[in-house]
Amino acid sequence: MIGIISEIHYQYRTLTPTYLQIALPVPLRRRFEYSLPSEFPKETLAPGMRIKVPFGRQELIGILLEVGTTNHFDPKKVKPILEILDSESIFHPKILSICLWGSKYYQHPIGDVLHSALPVLLRQGESNDPTMEYLVAIKRVAGERVATEIGDNDPREKDAAADLLRKSPRQLALFKLLHKNKKGLTRYDLNKEDFSLSIVKSLIKKELAKWESKTQEISPFNRDNIRNEEPLSLNEEQSAALGKLQSIGTHLIFGITGSGKTEVYLQAIEEVILEGKQALVLVPEIGLTPQTVERFRSRFSSLVCVLHSSLSDKERLEAWRQARQGGAAIIIGTRSAIFTPLKNPGIIIIDEEHDSSFKQQTGFQYSARDIAVLRGQLESIPVVLGSATPSLESYHNATKGKYSLSLLTERPRAVQDTQYKLLGTQHEKLNEGFSRALITEIEQHLLSGNQVIIFLNRRGFSPVILCSDCGWIAECHRCDARMTYHLTIGKLICHHCGTQTRVHRHCAACNSTQLTPLGLGTQRIEQTLNTLFPDQTIIRIDRDSTRKKGSFENIMDEIKHGNPAILVGTQLLAKGHHFPDVTLVAIIDMDAGFYSADYRAIEKMGQLLLQVGGRAGRESKPGTVVIQTQFPNQPILKTLISDGYQLFCKQLLEDRDKYKLPPFTYQAVIRAEANSIGIAMQFLNNLNETNTKPPGLSILGPVPSNMEKRAGKHRAQLLLTSTDRRTLQQGLVQCISLAEQSKESRKVRWSVDVDPIDLF
Ligand code: ADP
Ligand code: ZN
Ligand code: ZN
Repeated sequence: MIGIISEIHYQYRTLTPTYLQIALPVPLRRRFEYSLPSEFPKETLAPGMRIKVPFGRQELIGILLEVGTTNHFDPKKVKPILEILDSESIFHPKILSICLWGSKYYQHPIGDVLHSALPVLLRQGESNDPTMEYLVAIKRVAGERVATEIGDNDPREKDAAADLLRKSPRQLALFKLLHKNKKGLTRYDLNKEDFSLSIVKSLIKKELAKWESKTQEISPFNRDNIRNEEPLSLNEEQSAALGKLQSIGTHLIFGITGSGKTEVYLQAIEEVILEGKQALVLVPEIGLTPQTVERFRSRFSSLVCVLHSSLSDKERLEAWRQARQGGAAIIIGTRSAIFTPLKNPGIIIIDEEHDSSFKQQTGFQYSARDIAVLRGQLESIPVVLGSATPSLESYHNATKGKYSLSLLTERPRAVQDTQYKLLGTQHEKLNEGFSRALITEIEQHLLSGNQVIIFLNRRGFSPVILCSDCGWIAECHRCDARMTYHLTIGKLICHHCGTQTRVHRHCAACNSTQLTPLGLGTQRIEQTLNTLFPDQTIIRIDRDSTRKKGSFENIMDEIKHGNPAILVGTQLLAKGHHFPDVTLVAIIDMDAGFYSADYRAIEKMGQLLLQVGGRAGRESKPGTVVIQTQFPNQPILKTLISDGYQLFCKQLLEDRDKYKLPPFTYQAVIRAEANSIGIAMQFLNNLNETNTKPPGLSILGPVPSNMEKRAGKHRAQLLLTSTDRRTLQQGLVQCISLAEQSKESRKVRWSVDVDPIDLF
């Protein structure tokens, strides 16, 4: 059948047939070519329109990239398109450019990039026409009554339509559905519910339903009396920062917790809204920071659209339209919101810019922060990156003058400074992770009627084997690096050279047998606390305890009551919550972050330490942060605590420079997974060996990944590094083309991660 259709179209073609280059959502790094049958108007075509095409046995929705008259394939084999879904590009030109750039930069298939930039419903073919056709039920008069509900108690009403539909259960089902959905059903809805056009036609013929077109009006957001409340009067540092945000470019606001960054954002946004422009605000996790969203809503009367993860697909599309058509003044969302089209873009704000959730870790592995910077350039608007603990990349860019830098060092709401204490545990046998001094400290804070947070550092967590007698840690004999402990295979692996050894029985330094993997879980800590403090309320906050809907809110409510309690948690606790009654934060296993094989671990540790520290002592009560460590004399830790994050950054950057690590070099990782580690390693090895490495490119590996086995697959990786971005891209392109031709590629799933934030 398809063959016949394409024959016909082939004959119809004029002398200069039109070929369309289309991006399809398939994991292939290429464009696809289709022909344009003559009944479609060529003049109205524009890049960015959605087009339905045949692909193998399926039909896919692709995005038009180019219209041309030359074709690259055998014209007889080029198939015609099936349908043009849009009357204009579904993409804003700027967003389309960003996607094209992103596809090249992150070396990811363009079809997938474009799809991930669209709301789900648009990917599936939902109409983007603000006037939409709805199939609605026609009220039917039965006797003197109006039968509006099939299934009413009155049998006469039921009869009115049921009579007509008795012989066709599908028509009856549709009729019932139409009565349930008073607004009517779109073609998309009908398709989803599996109602064919002939069923629809029959209902229309029997005068039980009709098409009605409804316009979805979006009016521009209000620009008068936009304020619900007066802004605060800014201190000098805040005013200076606000002043800088007027100019196009990227601005880093490096402000300690509570220094009033959010107030600066709010006032910058006010100016933008007054000009009739829109603000796009990205935050790490909306569900975890309801207070931030609340502050935007209570400040402004203009429409604020929040792209929650709990929105339905329809609501999400609605918010997208509000943004695109200028109905929303402020759009707040997480990572993927960076692709939200704006009618009148005014400013982009990335709060907590250092947060790793801005980097997508699977599929299209983009950094929303980096895309924001690019988008700011394309749209000629300011981009604000804010953090109490900026990433080394952003801080480096700011000190080089690529970004403007504003420091906020004071807290307008005078709170006493948090006191940091290092508790050395190197000479003590710990009680399930707790030193005696820490237990005493916790008791004191609880006795004074306050709350305590016990924090576990699990991010970038890379287990090592440690001698609990002398502090020795298993190291690689060929590199200056610690061996990573792989629990599943019971081996130590060096992530720099791939050396593997069995786990030692004895400490190489003191011959002790007290060798333990470093790292504790929240559940075990909770148990221990129950034994240590049997009469206290202990609240565990991690992904497991907050998974159920609403449970996070319940936990937060309980904490807000302010009764003495111990809160045990991981990263979730570090996000911008206000816990007014917490006076002590204890970090009990900082060392795991310290001795990770990942060079970013120390940066992340420092960020976490300050973020968590920011939870202690708000407003009236002074806060204490206690850090348990085997290595209280570690210079970088001392720098962080006594000199602050800025000097900490400077020192880490010196190290990064010395060891040729990012941001002084650029990296990309190719990851492979297969049924056996041998296949994955072999596949990557070929990429390395057959690569005619451009000068200045280094390829390291392959090595097995830190979490070598995941979901039953064995994983390995190859690391590409260069001081020059173009060289890195060149090497990467070569690797990818080798990978695509590789004999092993059928047995391997592989992915590319440019600017990886998690190397191991
Ligand atoms: P950050 O976002 O840097 O953590 P916030 O903007 O949340 O800081 O400010 C911390 C607290 O200080 C908030 O309660 C805020 O209302 C208050 N605040 C901020 N700026 C000022 C100011 N200029 N004058 C008085 N209070 C301020
Ligand atoms: Zn090694
Ligand atoms: Zn030892």
